Amino acid sequence: MNIILFGPPGAGKGTQAKYLVEKLKGFQISTGDILRDEIKKDTDLGKQIINNMNDGKFVSDEIVNTIIKKFIFDPQKKNKLIFDGYPRSLDQAKNLDNLLNDSEQKIDFVFYLNVNKETIVKRLEKRKLLEKRTDDNLDTILKRYDTYMETTKPVLDFYSKKNNFHEIDGSENITEITRKIDTFVNV
Ligand code: AMP
Repeated sequence: MNIILFGPPGAGKGTQAKYLVEKLKGFQISTGDILRDEIKKDTDLGKQIINNMNDGKFVSDEIVNTIIKKFIFDPQKKNKLIFDGYPRSLDQAKNLDNLLNDSEQKIDFVFYLNVNKETIVKRLEKRKLLEKRTDDNLDTILKRYDTYMETTKPVLDFYSKKNNFHEIDGSENITEITRKIDTFVNV
């Protein structure tokens, strides 16, 4: 089963992705984590993306599209992909469709965790204290939310027409969101 968790930063995608990974013995594909790791290891790619990341801007489609390709074509991960934070633009969504087609896979569910700005700000400020992420200051949080809303509207339109799309109230607590996801992912 392949699943996309979609929603603004702080919506709880990562938490639910970890739950689904355990439940489905799947693999979490978090482009945010992968990119942060590149920065931490100070790789060439890390140097290229650090400014965008710290400014709350998106990294280019070309970079993230290249990153996810190897996960999709990894036979061990086939039909066990839990996407967290990808796709985030229409170009990425179309690229994902093509890669899945080429590898004879499909998306089974798209869960859109919908949360308003105030809830996001509260949650991300809390996470900043816990995880000390450099891109979690209030200014960056607000930029990330706005960038997200601007860029992802076409992605939302792209997926919301499909019948595997489910909108879930992401302002609910973790257990309630998991319960709702479980009503669809009943394996
Ligand atoms: P996240 O941890 O998913 O909130 O991502 C943190 C940051 O990584 C974002 O603010 C972007 O700068 C970058 N990023 C993560 N995923 C993507 C993506 N799919 N497309 C572009 N940039 C991304």
